[in-house]
Amino acid sequence: MKEEDIINIGELLYKKKLTFSTSGNISMRTKKGILITTSGSALGFLDKDDIVLTDETGKELEDKKASSEKMLHIEIYKRRKDVNAIIHAHPVYLTSFAACNLALNEPIMSENILYFEDIPLAPYAMPSSMELVENTVKYLEDRDVVLMANHGAVAIAKDLKHAFFKLETAEYYAQVMLNTMLLGGAKKLSKKDVKDLINLKKSSL
Ligand code: 13P
Ligand code: ZN
Repeated sequence: MKEEDIINIGELLYKKKLTFSTSGNISMRTKKGILITTSGSALGFLDKDDIVLTDETGKELEDKKASSEKMLHIEIYKRRKDVNAIIHAHPVYLTSFAACNLALNEPIMSENILYFEDIPLAPYAMPSSMELVENTVKYLEDRDVVLMANHGAVAIAKDLKHAFFKLETAEYYAQVMLNTMLLGGAKKLSKKDVKDLINLKKSSL
């Protein structure tokens, strides 16, 4: 059942062109441990063999090799008790901003401020390294999407569907941001507009 949720989200990520080939990884927290895609699996074409159960330290409980980014997932679950699903992917627009080392922090759309406030940029470190884990998790303490410099993005949420929505909306934000740059630059919202939006978000929580 839970494996099927990962398989379905992987397929959707692929259909929506948010993931390609064998890049990225997906996990979810369950009562039995962490279910995570195996290293090298193609997210658009997963089957049950491409998903492995680990304990809370990332140790595989089956004879399969978990994603090379498993420690990133494990550390996020440790720090964010409200998070039960994580998607790491390399979507084209988000990764373009990550490659240019540009955070998505310009106040160009009210909805995005309500949804993200901003999308920070975590400094570069080698994929699968503990340095990458350390660099990235600190930005997720009060945010749900982060860019990883010269690499990709991570989206986290209470469940897989919402992690997908966050990644999809972040990719849309990056695409609009790029279009505004091509069109000569967006008219930015004022500091007061941003403050009002953040207050609106807090009051509706
Ligand atoms: P895995 O196939 O090991 O999960 O790695 C994919 C990836 O995106 C590494 O950053
Ligand atoms: Zn990656």
